[in-house]
Formats: sequence, C-alpha cells, structure tokens
Amino acid sequence: MKILLLGKDGQVGWELQRSLAPLGELVALGSRSESPCGDLGRLDALRATVAAIRPAVIVNAGAYTAVDKAESEPERAHLLNAQAPGVLAEAARDCGALLVHYSTDYVFDGSGTHRWKEGDATGALSVYGRTKLEGERLIVRTHPRHLVFRTSWVYAARGGNFAKTMLRLARERDTLTVVDDQFGAPTGAELLADVTAHAVRACLADPARCGLYHLAAAGETSWHGYARFVLEQALALGVELRAGPDAVRPVPASSFPTAAMRPSNSRLDTSKLQAAFGLVLPPWQQGVSRMLTEALT
Ligand code: NDP
Repeated sequence: MKILLLGKDGQVGWELQRSLAPLGELVALGSRSESPCGDLGRLDALRATVAAIRPAVIVNAGAYTAVDKAESEPERAHLLNAQAPGVLAEAARDCGALLVHYSTDYVFDGSGTHRWKEGDATGALSVYGRTKLEGERLIVRTHPRHLVFRTSWVYAARGGNFAKTMLRLARERDTLTVVDDQFGAPTGAELLADVTAHAVRACLADPARCGLYHLAAAGETSWHGYARFVLEQALALGVELRAGPDAVRPVPASSFPTAAMRPSNSRLDTSKLQAAFGLVLPPWQQGVSRMLTEALT
C-alpha cells in the first residue's frame, strides 16, 4: 500500500514520517520536493503527483501556518489552505484514496467557555482561520473518504516551541508576562501522528469511520498556566532558573496586539473521536512533561 505524505518537514509531518512508516510504502514530500512535486501551491503539479503515485492514502500535513502574516498574504494563504486541499480531495476521489487533513480551532470565534463540538457553528476571526475552514469544507463536500482533524496549540520536540521559549526567558529574566485569557490544550505532534496512524488503519478497514473529528490532548490551560507548568517541571528536573513559576505574571491578550485575532476559547470536545476509534487522549501535561524531559536530561 502506498501512502503519500505532504508537508513532511513540519511539526506534524516530521512525526508522521515515523508513525506512518509501518503502515505501507511511504512517499514523503516537502514543499521543495520537485519530482514528484510536493508544493501545495502548484495545483496542476499536485494533481499530477497524485495521479502518478496513485496512493491508497494521502496525508496532508502541509499548510500556510503563519497566522499573522496571512493577514497581509490572504491569496497565498487561500491557495495553500483552501485551494490545495480542494485539489487533493478531487485527486483522492479520482484514485480512490483516503484523504487525511488537519484543520484548526481557529475556525471558531472563541466565544464562551464550553468545549467546541464538530457540529458547532464556525466563525473564524482571521484570514488563517477562514482559509482553513474553506479547505476543510472543500474536502468534506468533495470526497466522503476523508479524515479531517481539527487540533489546537500544536508543539513538537524538534525545533523551537512555546515551552522552550519560556525556559530560555526564565533563564535570562527575573519575570515573564504571559497571556492568561486564552484557553486550550497543548497538543503534541507525536500524539497527532500516532492517532492519525490508528485512525487511518481503522478507516481503511471500515470507511464508515471517516469524517471530521476534534483531536487534542485532554484537559485545558491558559498560556499562563502552560508557562507555569513548564517552569515547575524544569525546576523538578534540576534546571536553574532566574524566574520560577511564581514570577510568571498573567496579562490579557490585549497586552500583546497581533495582526490576526485569536480565539479566547480553543477548548475542543474530543468525545466523538475517542468513541469512534476506541482511543484515550492523554492529559496535555503528559506530552509536555515528556518533551521537557527529553529536552532537558
Ligand atoms: P508547521 O508550520 O510546523 O509545518 C507546516 C508545513 O507546511 C511545513 O513543513 C511547510 O514546509 C509546509 N508548507 C508550507 N508551504 C508549503 C507548500 N507550498 N507546499 C507544501 N508544503 C508547504 O505546521 P504544523 O505541523 O504545526 O501544522 C500541521 C497542520 O496542523 C496544519 O494543517 C496546521 O494548519 C494545523 N494546525 C496547527 C496548529 C499549530 O498550533 N501549529 C494548530 C491547529 C492546527 P516548509 O517549511 O518547507 O515551507
């Protein structure tokens, strides 16, 4: 079985290279892959890639993810986040492939304090959110054999991330100021990749399980709570810090104006996914602790 992975070098794409490898023959392409073409911005070449490989599964981990920059580059964001997934859906339909794609909590307006369910009304606040929403809609409308996972607050062990930034600042400064009025669940790229592999197997065996699902680690926190947790863990691991957890000052998001508006409530209800696939999503602290232990010991 051939699996085509697009966006292989991103946070999620990198972990998918690991988790998808045992499922079949993996063809992993990045934005700069030329032959076959892995550039989501070249729609005709993308169609040709799928037609040439004829994969049983297409996993798209590529996207325009620069949330603030998207406000000034709406056409590029639309091309990569909406048109390309639409083309992939048509190409997957034409060759009978299962299409896996990732979307975001940014499709919601972030109001209230409830956990968003898959069927709740959307109301994206930003260009990024609107283009991601259009992309997922094109897939759902075009090709029933899809898995679309809306996730939130993704981090990976590889490269930079929020936790590593907090650690660096806590070594350099006496106090940190971190937003305390946006809520969600930090979700590891590892977890996303592992759940994807399970769900792909389940959908190949039983296409009735295809659909759109919310996928995030369990529990919730604010960025402020997240930062405190990171520093508590670092101290427990013997790391010397100038600023400990009590030196993290809570501030509203309005203290850090950004080009794109972000939702305050990014809590996702994942009960549909857990029931459909018989999976348990671990608390967010578990993945963050693991990532910190790997980074610091
Ligand atoms: P990253 O920003 O880490 O990776 C995005 C990937 O997309 C990169 O490998 C990038 O490649 C690739 N890409 C950019 N332009 C193109 C292009 N023209 N053609 C092909 N690939 C391209 O993102 P994540 O791994 O964090 O995100 C994975 C998915 O999860 C995305 O769909 C994202 O929207 C979604 N998501 C992410 C969240 C987060 O907090 N990060 C939250 C919710 C959803 P290159 O580096 O070569 O440009």
